[in-house]
Amino acid sequence: MMSQIRYDLFHDRYVIIAPNRAQRAAFLKPQKPEEPRKCPFCEGNESLTPPEIFALRDGSAANQKGWRTRVVPNLYKAVEIEASLTRERERSFEWQEGFGAHEVIIDMPRHELSMAAWSEKEFADWLETVQERVTDLHRDFRLVYLSVFKNHGVHAGATQPHPHTQILGLPMIPKRELPMLAHQVTYYREHGKAVAEVLREDELAAKERIIMQNDHFVAIAPFASAFPFEVWVTPKEPIATLMTMHAEQTETLAKLLKALFGNMVDVLGNFDFNLTFEIAPLQKDGTSASMFEDFAQACRFGIRIVPRVTGIGGFELATGMHINPVSPEEAARKIRSAQP
Ligand SMILES: [Zn+2]
Repeated sequence: MMSQIRYDLFHDRYVIIAPNRAQRAAFLKPQKPEEPRKCPFCEGNESLTPPEIFALRDGSAANQKGWRTRVVPNLYKAVEIEASLTRERERSFEWQEGFGAHEVIIDMPRHELSMAAWSEKEFADWLETVQERVTDLHRDFRLVYLSVFKNHGVHAGATQPHPHTQILGLPMIPKRELPMLAHQVTYYREHGKAVAEVLREDELAAKERIIMQNDHFVAIAPFASAFPFEVWVTPKEPIATLMTMHAEQTETLAKLLKALFGNMVDVLGNFDFNLTFEIAPLQKDGTSASMFEDFAQACRFGIRIVPRVTGIGGFELATGMHINPVSPEEAARKIRSAQP
């Protein structure tokens, strides 16, 4: 297949799909993680973390054994909830204290290195915990933007092998996010439909990049995937946020993720990846006030999984334009037809 420059409507950027570069690409081999000496996230080691903020427990006492998921403040916080919001200025230098929330969800008590080995119930517990924390952090009016993500494996930047998810709550919308949000709001105002919905409908009609689906969710290898084997999981109903998702939707999402990771591991081995939750800004601030009312219609909840099978080169760093050596059609075909 010849290379194509594809327009990514979701991110408002271009991507080069270049399957014939696949042989050239240096595929990184996931390294074997070290055996844990004393993992602070394993069951029984609760005293090694700060006291928990939240946990799914069946009657057991806080900070003791007997939990399914646990949420603790990040020991190496990037931002802190106690910091001041005041902006300082000297000459052209502007700063403020690192205000924000930085939490770690310990996804499960087991030191399980592959998400493919999680049960449906474990996926559901994990989703419920993310939902709980997002709902709770939403109550803090100072937090404008939430980033919820998982780094899995050394090539994805994970420093702790035990399965965990991070939540960063910030008092502003990250600069790079603003144009994308503005693009989604503008698109919604012009077309009366969310970008995510148009893309989902068009992908369902085109069929060839659909990986799997059930009543409520569909997993897609997006038309303009920036990375090899990138997967986008998006709801079939207009779910604006994780907070309003009901139990049946969470269950079907857990089912789909369980099957999806099973197939992906069959194709890629125990691959390193980044996983992000797509969450609209929680509060309006100076930069988003004019768009805020439309976020609920223009933005849709989603999960994006980006396997880290290739490194990032100078061209990508310099231009922000990605060269993807695996066509999304091929990625979808492979993941779809996996027989784990
Ligand atoms: Zn552990």
